[in-house]
This record gives sequence, structure tokens and C-alpha cells, in this order.
Amino acid sequence: MFNAKAYQGLIKELEPYKATLVAVSKKKPADDVTEAMVEGQMDFGENYVQELVEKKDLVSRMARWHFIGHLQSNKVKMIASCVHLIQGVDSVKLLSEINKEGKKNGRIIDCLLQVHIASEETKFGFSEAEAESLLLFPELAEMTHVRIRGLMGMASLTEDTVQVRKEFHGLHSLYLNCKMMSMDPEAFNVLSMGMSGDYRIALDCGSNMIRIGSMLFGVRS
Ligand SMILES: *Cc1c(COP(=O)(O)O)cnc(C)c1O
Repeated sequence: MFNAKAYQGLIKELEPYKATLVAVSKKKPADDVTEAMVEGQMDFGENYVQELVEKKDLVSRMARWHFIGHLQSNKVKMIASCVHLIQGVDSVKLLSEINKEGKKNGRIIDCLLQVHIASEETKFGFSEAEAESLLLFPELAEMTHVRIRGLMGMASLTEDTVQVRKEFHGLHSLYLNCKMMSMDPEAFNVLSMGMSGDYRIALDCGSNMIRIGSMLFGVRS
């Protein structure tokens, strides 16, 4: 079930920020996506390749699909023709694979570098230093079928809002630095941070794209 009332409230709240809302429809049926589209939502986030591929065929082709999870290199080809933005790029190997598939599909695939900002341990995401140095890689200039549009990050899962704010602030500073270093600073314009539990803090810290799931579609089983 898509919560249209919560959606309209959120859209109002986002207006002054000019931020993009990605409705995270993972583990929710295609009908929920359609309900959201009826209300005007076009951007959707998924984190499983198989689920995205199946769902996209069941809803309007107007939907824009964001891949927000960990993407395995061997699965890039499954989404290369339909994905709008790959938000979880966390290795050079993956970026190079996306470039290859972009070329095969005759398109430039937009990507965000995922940066690990949370205190929890995870295998995924670049460190801040790695993200900066990637932008200076000479190989990057040869990857003509990917375009790095910005950064994505997830804050720690904690009630400690001071900690969350610190992490989002840090990612915002890194974003500004990376934007200056980017080959195309105009196109490097997306800072994706904030989920149902912490989007207000994220917006306050300079986010211009939030990824909201449970607040719109209810809790996931
Ligand atoms: C699931 C998920 C979200 C949405 O989380 P909610 O707390 O349900 O809003 C956002 N970003 C990523 C990367 C996710 O995996």
C-alpha cells in the first residue's frame, strides 16, 4: 500500500530544498509503484537486480529506476539498458563494467559513488580518500560511457542525531571537494543522503536527493 497522504506531505516538505525524492519500492509489489505514479512519483529505488528487472515490466515505462543496493559486476548487464542512476558504485571494477555495458547499449550510464560514512563495519563503499583519488584516475577519462554524477551515503543506524549530523556534514564537504575535482563539475550535482528515519537531518546538511521507503510504502517484511 502506498501512503498518498504521507507522500503529499513529504513533497510539500521538500519544496524549499529542491531535492529529488526517490521512492524506495524494494520488496513491495508493482501495484504499489503504480499507485505512487498516479500521485505523480516517477523515481523509484530498488536494491535487487532480479526484482528491478521483473517489476519494471509490470509498471509504466515512464518510471525511472535507481539502483541503490550493492551491485555485482556480473549483473550490470541485466539493468544496463533500463537503469536511470546507479547509486551504489563502490569499486573501480564495477565502474569499468558499467562503462562496458553502457557502451554495448549505446548509452552513458549515470552513477553515484557510494561513500562509507557510518560507524558500522561494512564491506561496501569507498573511504573518503578513495572517492577523491578515484576522480583523479587517468583511466576514468577513458570511461566514456559512465558519468559520475555525485555521491551517495548512509549514516549510522543510531538514535544519536549528533553523530548522524556529523556524518552527513562530512559527506557534504566531501561532495563539494569532489565536485571541484570532477572532470565535469556541472554534471557532478547529486548528493544522495537521507532515508525515512534521518532525511530531515540530511536535507539540513545539504542533501539534494533522499531515498524514502518505509515512510511511503510501510514497513518491509
Ligand atoms: C532500503 C533503503 C532505503 C530506504 O530505507 P527506509 O528506511 O525504508 O526509508 C534507502 N537507501 C538504501 C540504500 C536502502 O537500501
